Amino acid sequence: MRKKIVAGNWKMHKNAQQTAALLQDLMAKIPATTEAQVIVAPTFVNLASAVTQLESANIGVAAQNMHQAEGGAFTGEISADMLTSIGVKTVILGHSERRSLFHETDALIAYKVDTALAHEMTVIFCFGEELKDRQSDNHFNIVENQLKDGLFHIANESWSKIVLAYEPVWAIGTGETASPEQAQEMHEFIRETVRKRFGAEISDELTILYGGSVKPENAKEIFSKPDVDGGLIGGAALKADDFLAIVSAI
Ligand code: PGA
Repeated sequence: MRKKIVAGNWKMHKNAQQTAALLQDLMAKIPATTEAQVIVAPTFVNLASAVTQLESANIGVAAQNMHQAEGGAFTGEISADMLTSIGVKTVILGHSERRSLFHETDALIAYKVDTALAHEMTVIFCFGEELKDRQSDNHFNIVENQLKDGLFHIANESWSKIVLAYEPVWAIGTGETASPEQAQEMHEFIRETVRKRFGAEISDELTILYGGSVKPENAKEIFSKPDVDGGLIGGAALKADDFLAIVSAI
C-alpha cells in the first residue's frame, strides 16, 4: 500500500501567533486516526516553534524551500543542516512559485534535491505545466522533462525519500482545479515515466500528490482516483476545518 499524504503549504501566511493558533486548532480537531500522513509547512521563522508545539501530535512539519549549499556567505538563506537541527526532516522543493517568481531552474532544483537527500530529508518535489503548455498540448512533455531534469539522476534507494506533487500552474490559487480525470491521466503518466526508468517496485510505492485549488468540496473525487495519493494544499490549508475536511476525504 502506498503512503497517502495531505500536506498544507502555508506559503507566506501566518505570523507567530497565527501559526500557533492554527496548529492548536488542528491538534484539537484532527481525527484520532487518519489514513493520510498529515504535514504542515509554515514559514521558516515559525518552523522551530511548530516542531515544539506538534511534538506529541500526529502532524509532521516541512519547510517550503531551502538553499542548496551546505552553508557560507548566502545572505538570507537557510540550509538543510539548519532545518534538520531543529527537527524538520521534510522540505518542499520546486514549487511553481519558486520556479516562476524566484527563477529556480530544473538544474538548481536537482542540486537542492541532492542536498536534501544527503541530509536524509524527505523531498516533496513539485512540478507541473503552465496553461500555455496545456493549450498547446505540450503538457506531458513539460512534466516529463521537469521530472527527468530534477530527479532522474538520483539513486534507486533515494526514491523512498521522494514524494511527488503534480501541480498544474494554471490550477494553483486560481480556483480552477484540474478535473479528477485530468489529474489521474497525468499521475498515471508520471508513474509510468518513473516505472520505465526505475522499475515497478519504485513506481508502485511512489506517493504522487495533486495540488491546485483542492478544497473540501472537490477533494474526495480527486483522491478517489487510483494514482492520486493525496494532496498539496495551499489556500484551503489556512483554516483547520477546511484542511481537516480534506484530510478526511482520503
Ligand atoms: P492552492 O495552492 O491550493 O491555493 O491552489 C496549492 C499549492 O500552491 O501548493
